[in-house]
Amino acid sequence: MENSNVAIDGFSAAGKTTAALLLASELGYLYLDTGAMYRSVAYLALRNGVDLDNETGLVSMLAQHTISIVPDDAATAGYRVLIDGRGTGERLFDPDVAAAVSTVAARPAIRRELVGRQRAIAAQGPVVMAGRDIGTVVLSDARYKFFLTASVDERARRRQAEFRERGLDVALDDVQAQIVERDRLDSTRAISPLRAAADAITIDSTDLRPDEVVARMRAAMERAPA
Ligand code: C5P
Repeated sequence: MENSNVAIDGFSAAGKTTAALLLASELGYLYLDTGAMYRSVAYLALRNGVDLDNETGLVSMLAQHTISIVPDDAATAGYRVLIDGRGTGERLFDPDVAAAVSTVAARPAIRRELVGRQRAIAAQGPVVMAGRDIGTVVLSDARYKFFLTASVDERARRRQAEFRERGLDVALDDVQAQIVERDRLDSTRAISPLRAAADAITIDSTDLRPDEVVARMRAAMERAPA
């Protein structure tokens, strides 16, 4: 294999971002959380009042804005997202954006556009890229592929804790329902549904700390044939 890219896919709030960030910094690789791109489109659609089902409208809206993802160690996710040069802060992680994102992510033209951008970033790699279709579609030739899972209870607790840190008090049942619904939409869409690549290694992070998840990834990478 010619590349040493790492693809990390998995369910919502399974710990992909944290693991990808840590792994990228240990390896000295580029890091890209592709969820930020889809969240940006959802956020722009809400802000501009573009119907989430209006694919043509979403595509022309996207052409009118710039989205840049800038590495930033000080930010929780390890990056900042700038839309038209302005920081989005934690806005992309608000519940209304989370509720809208799977709908825009199911639009083929949006995926085509964003996948092109993701591959252009990988071309400057090596990269650790996190998302839903990285091992299956975006970097189907990635040398290392991981699929992260965790129990839905644990994922809901983690997401609720993130909301709490930001001063948002969202009931656990509501957080859980949103995660389950997002996974359902992501797994059942017609284009690039969320699923593990046939050659991905699945890691259940329910009882693991982020550094333990990364240690398992690195052990698997070391075991992989050269
Ligand atoms: O990873 P994150 O929770 O930020 O992703 C938000 C949403 O973006 C996902 O629920 C999914 O709908 C979409 N997404 C996607 N493909 C990716 C990354 C994210 O469809 N590669």
